[in-house]
Amino acid sequence: RFLVLEGIDGCGKTTQIEALRAWLPLSGLMAPDSRLVVTREPGGTALGQALRALLLHPPDGVAPGSLCELMLYAADRAQHVEECLRPALAAGDWVLSDRYSGSTAAYQGHGRGLPMATIHQLEAMATGGLEPDLTLWLDLPLAGSLRRRGGRPADRIEATGEAFLQRVSDGFATLAAERGWQRVAAGGPIEQVTAHCRTLITEHLGAA
Ligand code: C5P
Ligand code: MG
Repeated sequence: RFLVLEGIDGCGKTTQIEALRAWLPLSGLMAPDSRLVVTREPGGTALGQALRALLLHPPDGVAPGSLCELMLYAADRAQHVEECLRPALAAGDWVLSDRYSGSTAAYQGHGRGLPMATIHQLEAMATGGLEPDLTLWLDLPLAGSLRRRGGRPADRIEATGEAFLQRVSDGFATLAAERGWQRVAAGGPIEQVTAHCRTLITEHLGAA
């Protein structure tokens, strides 16, 4: 089973991933002999880590243009699919990924304004058609995200500016409707958000 968490920066993905990492193996959903692989994009492989560093903390003067940036995310994804995701799923493992191709549609498509046709072409190439069994969208309004992060951008993308982040945020809502993602309201207490994630996972991935 392939499970993905999506959402804007500061929506609490990483916190929820850790909670689900602890819960899933005990949930009774996984076969006793299957493992849980927790991974992320960008940066789920050794090559991906290098691409992540280049994308988020480029040396002075090295910032990529939009199309180049899209291709670097696609390159990260191609390696991730081939080296990590497909082998894990083929072995019967469960995979929990912090972001997948939905983030590219949100950030590089809706955010940067690259044509969706281009996004879809590269997505098809990078994933070879591999789609999640379930995508949970942690929906936190932009104001909440900016408050959580406390005014300090953590990387080049977060420093891009609020208009960009608002387009990304709106993009996630559009994509959730288009792609059938499950929405989780992410503004409440952590335990409540985790409980909602657990309920959705059990509902959608319960009957194997
Ligand atoms: O979620 P995480 O903190 O790992 O994301 C790293 C950074 O990459 C974030 O600032 C996010 O906004 C950005 N990002 C992006 N395009 C993607 C995926 C992530 O700009 N496709
Ligand atoms: Mg972040």
